[in-house]
Amino acid sequence: MTTEVLPPLPLPNELTAPFWDGANNGQLVIQRCNACGYFQHAPEPICAHCLSFDLGHAAVSGKGSVYTFCIPTQAFHPWFEDKLPFVLAVVELDEQPGLKMITNIVEIDPESVKVGDRVEVTFAPLGEGFTLPVFRPAAQ
Ligand SMILES: [Zn+2]
Repeated sequence: MTTEVLPPLPLPNELTAPFWDGANNGQLVIQRCNACGYFQHAPEPICAHCLSFDLGHAAVSGKGSVYTFCIPTQAFHPWFEDKLPFVLAVVELDEQPGLKMITNIVEIDPESVKVGDRVEVTFAPLGEGFTLPVFRPAAQ
């Protein structure tokens, strides 16, 4: 008998559930301040721009560019052992300068990723009812 190794899974809470629900529906959903329109990720209880507590969420375009990345060569969890090498990246979303998210770049040879590459969101099933927003090279 073998035991299936699950990926590290999220534990959604009031702040993060809209992100995960959006991903399950094929949308990249980011926290947005209802008072000033500022996007922030990861979600926080207060707006970092205007200090309002009136926060909501909004679907974004899913388009952005590679801000930085690395290619891990060691699995930091057993689930990643057969997935090396992969691209662990920070993507800056088009909606707002400095709006960044940690993600993976997929559908590309890891050795060919470059800072500034244009990317677009796609969605990878994680299992246990979760979907992970990841990015692939943008369509030309
Ligand atoms: Zn605000």
